[in-house]
Amino acid sequence: MKEHTQKRMDEFYKDKKELKEIEQKKGLKKYKVIDIRLKGTNKTEKVNHEGKEHGRMQVLKGNCIDPVRGCPSYANPEKPMCPWDCYSEEAVRRYKIDFGKPISMKLKERLLVKDMIGTQSDWIRIGVDGAPSWNWELTVRCAELVNLVQKVPVIITRMWRTITMKQLQRLIDIGTIIHITVSAADREEILERNLEIAKDINIMGGKVVLRIVTFAYRPGDCREKKQEKMMYQEEIPVLEQPGRLMRVTENTKRKNSLWVEIVHIAGGGGSPERYYLRELHKNLPKNKVRTFYSRNKEMMCSCSSCAKIKEKNGIRIKSVADISRFFDEIDYMYDSREHFVNSHSDEREQIQKENVDMIVKRLEAEERNAERLNIAHNLGEDISFYKKWRASLEGLSHKRKES
Ligand code: SF4
Repeated sequence: MKEHTQKRMDEFYKDKKELKEIEQKKGLKKYKVIDIRLKGTNKTEKVNHEGKEHGRMQVLKGNCIDPVRGCPSYANPEKPMCPWDCYSEEAVRRYKIDFGKPISMKLKERLLVKDMIGTQSDWIRIGVDGAPSWNWELTVRCAELVNLVQKVPVIITRMWRTITMKQLQRLIDIGTIIHITVSAADREEILERNLEIAKDINIMGGKVVLRIVTFAYRPGDCREKKQEKMMYQEEIPVLEQPGRLMRVTENTKRKNSLWVEIVHIAGGGGSPERYYLRELHKNLPKNKVRTFYSRNKEMMCSCSSCAKIKEKNGIRIKSVADISRFFDEIDYMYDSREHFVNSHSDEREQIQKENVDMIVKRLEAEERNAERLNIAHNLGEDISFYKKWRASLEGLSHKRKES
């Protein structure tokens, strides 16, 4: 590893250690042992059990179970085994629970079966807020119960503990889909071991998916090649999971700085230097956006995030040079993501005001505008999605009218 990279790594781990120490002083609790129940998250369910929209609390229903809560990756804050911030760790930190001490939960088979029979989903995810590999026997039993209610078990794991051949065979026999998370940023021994296990499962006839946490490495970084090799091999199906920032507000910059550090080590982030082009509903590389706005200055975004950049740097968009300055000043780790969130929120508001026919008409107008601006040619961007979106919405509108 290059010296400067090692140094940044050391700083990253030092930062983590400090944070952990601060938290320990606050007094972290152990996880309570509770029954393994079916649950959702704010990604799987739109409302929590109190009916609140997009609540951050865990919600009942859903299609997830956690045989184990907590993960050993954070047992040693000096060297966490996942070299990125973990959404699950971040979530439990708010409840002052020691994520680094995984605890097996209590399995009441009848209760769990009853929960699962009641869900419409035909698959169940095992492993959300913890490492299922911490207790393979318990995890395998949970998977067998999933199979008993004729659903497909899907385990998401980093394989921290070794699974025995017998346990693996039991999972394969019931058609479990095993997602193994890997990343080119992993320590060599962890990555090699997990790739080997994935190959073994494949050879044994099991269903395995490589869940690859990707970063935009600096060109020439050996991890870039490693990542590409994993992404484009054809032996095992791949699911890309771009490394991402969890928050973008001012108040959380300090915490994010840990994450930003690792992103800087890797050289930029999952989607490097992109900006959401509202006119196309797409996140595009900054060069393309610069080109677009250089020709269409009057269309520059004026959301609160973009307005802030202009105000802070005294930029008034009058010339192509102003556009360039604006894009030079953007912090793609924060500002661009804030702009993205603002844009999505505006789009959501807009859609809520319209009925289906109005949305179709608006999309027609947007498509005509994209054609007028010759986006397909000037930016090399495909705009056929407008037709697909319209076709789906028109189908929906017909169905509604018929019923
Ligand atoms: S293995 Fe999963 S749960 Fe554990 S730290 Fe890594 S991402 Fe988080």
